[in-house]
Amino acid sequence: MSKLDDLIDEAPNDEIIKKSLTTTFQKLKDYDKIICSISGGSDSDLIIDLCQQFDESNKIQYVFFDTGLEFEATKEHIRDLERRYNVEIKRIRAVKPIPVCCREYGQPFLSKQVSEWISRLQRHGFQWDDTDDLEFLMGKYHNCKAALRWWCNDYPKALGGKVSSYNIEYNSYLKEFMIENPPQFSISNKCCHFAKKKVASDFKKKEKPDLNMYGVRKAEGGARKGAYKNCFTTKKSGADEYRPVFWYLESTKKTYEEHYGVEHSRCYTEYGLKRTGCAGCPYARNNEEELRAMEMYEPRLYRAVSNVFRDSYEYTRAYREYVARRKGNDQNG
Ligand code: SF4
Repeated sequence: MSKLDDLIDEAPNDEIIKKSLTTTFQKLKDYDKIICSISGGSDSDLIIDLCQQFDESNKIQYVFFDTGLEFEATKEHIRDLERRYNVEIKRIRAVKPIPVCCREYGQPFLSKQVSEWISRLQRHGFQWDDTDDLEFLMGKYHNCKAALRWWCNDYPKALGGKVSSYNIEYNSYLKEFMIENPPQFSISNKCCHFAKKKVASDFKKKEKPDLNMYGVRKAEGGARKGAYKNCFTTKKSGADEYRPVFWYLESTKKTYEEHYGVEHSRCYTEYGLKRTGCAGCPYARNNEEELRAMEMYEPRLYRAVSNVFRDSYEYTRAYREYVARRKGNDQNG
């Protein structure tokens, strides 16, 4: 009986888990130089556990990309994982840590896409004009048509006639809010580029793996999962990509965790967070909840993020209040 047969025999009675064992087994056989990103989040806990079940796991270089704003609980968890699985998880520092990016380029606000459009408009000295007249605005501000189309809601509707996420109306009352309250600080999504994307791509360029592994699940929300159709992608140039827990549902995760005794970081078990990422990221849907937990459990980090993202937090809160007020008015009147 092969190692894989043994593992399938001992696996929980769950087809998604069994399939992920088989596929991971095959990928570790097929590839020789593998990089696996470990974030310290719950999905990556499953991935490292899954990989370490196989003899070929010594082909894997585990890496943790440190953005410069990480929970102490996450860093501690990375150390715990190293001990538990007897592996090294290489820490890679950001090309520019998030606090430096925010100082140099501006702070992220609401979402990556919204921050991109706003930063382009700010670079053109946009005056948050109260108009949908694209021709007029293109005459006034040159060479920023894409962002002006966002402002004028000029992008076609999405599938099913839904409002396109490329248009400003995708975020209720954002245009009205910005006209009444133009941002007094620079907005930018550059921290994602310098603290996350570039650092990972530079590392891969240097290491030249033939397979990259990372944790994205189809069942989770957000733009990331929409970018992938399957758990595996072959690349014409560069490394192929494998997402071992792509098909896992919340229930699959729970089954796996219970069966194999996977432990998560204190961000989950003690702070009560549902997911982790860069600490205090203004894009996070649970941002306020995360800040409350941070203030209680990691007050130094809380002070740091309150400083780094100060303007964005204030602007976001003002926007949320504005939306609540306008929606209340609409309902009452
Ligand atoms: S996820 Fe948020 S905090 Fe992290 S790099 Fe991107 S915008 Fe910055």
